[in-house]
Amino acid sequence: MKNIGIDLGTANTIIYMKGRGIVLREPSVVALDSKGRDVVAVGNAAKQMLGKTPGSIKALRPLKDGVIAEFDATAAMLRHFFKKVSGSSIFSRPKVIVCIPYGVTEVEKRAVEDVTIEAGAQSVALIEEPVAAAIGSGLRIEDARGSMIVDIGGGTTEVAVLSYGGIVFSNSIRTAGDAIDSAITSYIKRRYNVLIGEVTAETLKKSIGCAHSSYDRGIMEVRGRNIINGLPAILTLSSAEIREAMLDSIRTIIDSIKNTLENTPPELASDIYDRGIVLAGGSALIPGIDLVIARSTGIRTYVAKNPIDCVACGIGRVLEGGNVGGGAIMFRGR
Ligand code: ADP
Ligand code: MG
Repeated sequence: MKNIGIDLGTANTIIYMKGRGIVLREPSVVALDSKGRDVVAVGNAAKQMLGKTPGSIKALRPLKDGVIAEFDATAAMLRHFFKKVSGSSIFSRPKVIVCIPYGVTEVEKRAVEDVTIEAGAQSVALIEEPVAAAIGSGLRIEDARGSMIVDIGGGTTEVAVLSYGGIVFSNSIRTAGDAIDSAITSYIKRRYNVLIGEVTAETLKKSIGCAHSSYDRGIMEVRGRNIINGLPAILTLSSAEIREAMLDSIRTIIDSIKNTLENTPPELASDIYDRGIVLAGGSALIPGIDLVIARSTGIRTYVAKNPIDCVACGIGRVLEGGNVGGGAIMFRGR
């Protein structure tokens, strides 16, 4: 039986341990020495280095758009996380279930399996991310009625329609939290000629960002660099400006939901209409995003409880052997 579940996300890695629940929640970031060989830091410690490392250290995000971009760095990161959660040696070689985005290629699936083994796992099984997210958000996916889960993460937004425990239709776009951060950076550059770092953009989004004016969150002061004279600059930004900067990305996400609804068989579409849309993933925490999605689709929209943990909790339920809809869920293992 498997004992560890991993949500290997573009932004965050979350580990669930059987019998214990979520035991690790850290950014998917690795800091390497200049030769790119030795790992200097991973997770939270590495994220703090993003954008301010000296020449001798390189902080990078080894996953991109939901898939592995840097194999060795991902393996090193996972190895470190395994060590951290296993403490002494109770299970030095865990049996792992790891999720993969729906619709990835065979080569990308292989990479996830290989990286998990390389990091020290004894065995690995894969589960489709939207299925895990749906289980983790408490949707009853095993019955015949259709449901829709929208996972808005860091690299991708995955819109999936599920029925009978499987994915009927899914749409993945590369617009999610990271794209929103870049949009904030571009907006500020365009409007003020000031360049801010990616961590600052994310902080602005989390602190004062919102998707609808009824959630206005005041102002925030940030530092950047004036691109005309090269000097440090201090700016005071308003919640309304950040909302404006985020607008296009949020529209793109809504278009993808509408597009999925248009491609959904009518019976399932009416189930979704009855049951509503469930939002998961860290970017579901943007205040008002449920409201704007509900308004533009005409369908009630809910944010799952603890949206960042949904996928890991869903894998957790599979690990604990809960009744989650039969044996069709884990589709591959070794
Ligand atoms: P992934 O599955 O791609 O690793 P997550 O589901 O962990 O992504 O979500 C990460 C994204 O959620 C990041 O872009 C992060 O900035 C965003 N995020 C996390 N918390 C908040 C918040 N409170 N408000 C807005 N965005 C948030
Ligand atoms: Mg995710």
